[in-house]
This record gives sequence, structure tokens and C-alpha cells, in this order.
Amino acid sequence: MKKIAILGSTGSIGVQTLEVVRSNKDLQVSALAAGSNIQRLEAQIREFHPGLVAVWSEEKAKELRLLVGDLSVRVVSGMEGLLEVCTYPKAEIVVTAIVGMIGIRPTIAAIQAGKDIALANKETLVTAGHLIMPMAEKYGVRILPVDSEHSAIFQCLNGEDRREIRKLLLTASGGPFRGKKRSDLEHIQVEDALKHPNWSMGQKITIDSSTLVNKGLEMMEARWLFQVEPEDIQIVVQPKSIIHSMVEFADGAVIAQLGTPDMKLPIQYALYYPHRRDLPGERLDFWKLTEITFERPDMETFTGLKLAFAAAKAGGSMPTVYNAANELAVSWFLSRRISYLAIPEIIEWCMAEHRVVPNPDVEQILETERQTYELIESRW
Ligand code: NDP
Repeated sequence: MKKIAILGSTGSIGVQTLEVVRSNKDLQVSALAAGSNIQRLEAQIREFHPGLVAVWSEEKAKELRLLVGDLSVRVVSGMEGLLEVCTYPKAEIVVTAIVGMIGIRPTIAAIQAGKDIALANKETLVTAGHLIMPMAEKYGVRILPVDSEHSAIFQCLNGEDRREIRKLLLTASGGPFRGKKRSDLEHIQVEDALKHPNWSMGQKITIDSSTLVNKGLEMMEARWLFQVEPEDIQIVVQPKSIIHSMVEFADGAVIAQLGTPDMKLPIQYALYYPHRRDLPGERLDFWKLTEITFERPDMETFTGLKLAFAAAKAGGSMPTVYNAANELAVSWFLSRRISYLAIPEIIEWCMAEHRVVPNPDVEQILETERQTYELIESRW
């Protein structure tokens, strides 16, 4: 029996993780954490019987305690609660499916408690990859990627010598606005940006996919996970999301991982690594799949991607500025406070204002996040 804790169990990845648990009798949910959706959490508690559950606010925690008063589950709250879930002695692996930089502390706590990490929360590696990867090595825990592109690369690297990697080819669907020019993007509304052509995901990542900021974050996540330089990561637009990513090796061989777009595959692979299990669902039919096309990403229109390479090159605290500025800008766009094109403008402006802190520790990363928010709040 493999015991798991899930951070962000009520979100898109969290719910799909529970679907994987539902169809595998040797997986058991020990602990769950979510933000505020206590109705969904109550249903999850009744079905999966975790011993410990965390919600963000104490007010919601009180409500949840009343809802599940007939069950033997402990409900905790706040950052303390999240940390308790991550370090819960009964869990062996923690699925980090929480959204945003709030995932940093819990991920570190889980590593220090010796838990393997099934990592969906890319913001943690983007901002603190230089701390997380050596820490995982020190504590002898595995960081198993859940992001489909990173899982693909991870699968392509099975049995390979990582020193022989020449290039990571990170594929991108191009999002709902592929082929559009800057002037076409001026009047984009929230509803337009939330329509992803291939994947059904949480709101923040769906907006990030439309701006190509998601691909920028993935590039930075990949550099830490696979220890390559940003210039050795090439973004390849492949609109149908059939090839989930590829690796080019020293001899010119390119290995790719293909499949239908279904996040349950990388989730299940991370939970059972290095084994593969049956997974019900559609299969690729190469007789029907007549073509797979490739394009170069348009970084002049989707400047968020270009800025990601600049942030990675600057290093230190700059990826935190990139990420934090994007997090706040996306939440403002979702609440219709700013226009679509203001998202990359805010990122660019914050990056221009920032003086890089080299090799930041966790406090400096969180301080950079706070300063970035304050800067935007005070001047935008
Ligand atoms: P969602 O928005 O669907 O879900 C986010 C989850 O985080 C929810 O369960 C939410 O709880 C929880 N949460 C938010 N704030 C807090 C908090 N303060 N404390 C505890 N829990 C909190 O996001 P996704 O599932 O789409 O994405 C999660 C992460 O995985 C992101 O980092 C994303 O980039 C990454 N990812 C997602 C993919 C996808 O297909 N969706 C693919 C690859 C990576 P609640 O709703 O109850 O408030």
C-alpha cells in the first residue's frame, strides 16, 4: 500500500490524482490540503478517509470540522496546517498540486521529512530550484515531475546518461491565440483566454498557457529538474499536444514521449515510478493521426516567453520577480482589473525595476515576492 498526501486536492491536478487513487487499490490517501472549497473537500474525506486535512483559513476549518464531525479526521488550518500535512508520518509521497509560490515552504518541509515529491507546483522550482534540488539530493528523496512535458522528458531519460543530453525540446500547444498578432490580443477577454485547445486545467495555468508564460515557467522548471542551461532548452510549438516533449542526445538521436493529452498518465507515472500501470482511456491511433506539425514560438507577440529566458539568464531572484509579477497580474486579469496585454507589461516592468539578489535563500525569495507585489500595488 502506497500512502500519499495531496496538497491542492480540490483543484484540477488534485481531483485527477484522486481519480488515479480511485482506480488503484494499492494507493491510499493519508492527508489532504486545500484552499477553501470545503464542500468538495468534505466529499473527498468521506470517500478517501484521510487522517489529516488542512484548509487555509481557520474559519473554513471550523466549518469543515462541523461537516465531518461524524468522522475521525483531524482538521487543521493555515501554513502550520499545510506543513503538518506535508510532514504527516503516515504519508510516503506528497503530491504538490497547490497553485503558486505558497508551495515553497510545504515542499521544503516534505523533503526535509524524507517524503518523495510528485511535483506539479512548478512555481516552487522556478523560484527556488537552486535550493530544492540539492536539498532533495541531501535528504535522498525523489522529485518526480507531474507536469506532462517534464514527465515526458523524465521518461525519455530513463536509462540514459544525463551528461549525454544535448538539448531538451519542450513542446507547446501555442495556446488559444496561436498565430495571432499583438493587435489581435488587445481586446482579449477572460472567457477567451480560459479556452485552452487541448487541456482542461485550473484558471491560472490556463491563462499562463495562453500568454506562453506557462512555457517560460516550464523552461525554468526543466532547467532545475534536469540540470541543463536555459539555452539548451528549445521550445517547439506542436499544436495538437501529441508529443509531450523530447530529448536530443550527443549522437543526434531524439527520443520523444507521445500520448493523448491526459494528465492522469504523468500523475500515475509519478506515483508508481519506475513502474507502469494500466490506465483506462483513449489511445493514440496512428492510422487516424495523419500529421504532427511543428512551429517556432512567436516570442515577439508572446513576450512573456522571451522574458522568461531573460529572467532565467539573469538568475538569482529574477525568476521570482517574473513569477510573482505574473501571479498578481493574472489574478488582476481574472478579476477584470487589467487588460490581457498588461500581464506581460507588468512582468517586464517589474523585471526592469529589480536588482538581482544572487543565490537567494528562502527568506530572500519570499521577500522578493512581497516587494514585487508591493511595487505593482503602489505604482500600477
Ligand atoms: P487549480 O487552480 O485547479 O487548483 C489549485 C489547488 O490549490 C486547489 O485545490 C486550491 O484549493 C489549492 N490552494 C490554493 N491556495 C491554497 C492555499 N493557500 N492553501 C491550500 N491550498 C490552496 O490548479 P491546477 O490543479 O491547475 O494547478 C496546480 C499546480 O499544478 C500549479 O502549479 C500548476 O502550474 C501545476 N500544473 C497543473 C496542470 C494541470 O493540468 N492543471 C499541469 C501541470 C502543472 P481551493 O480550490 O479549495 O481553494
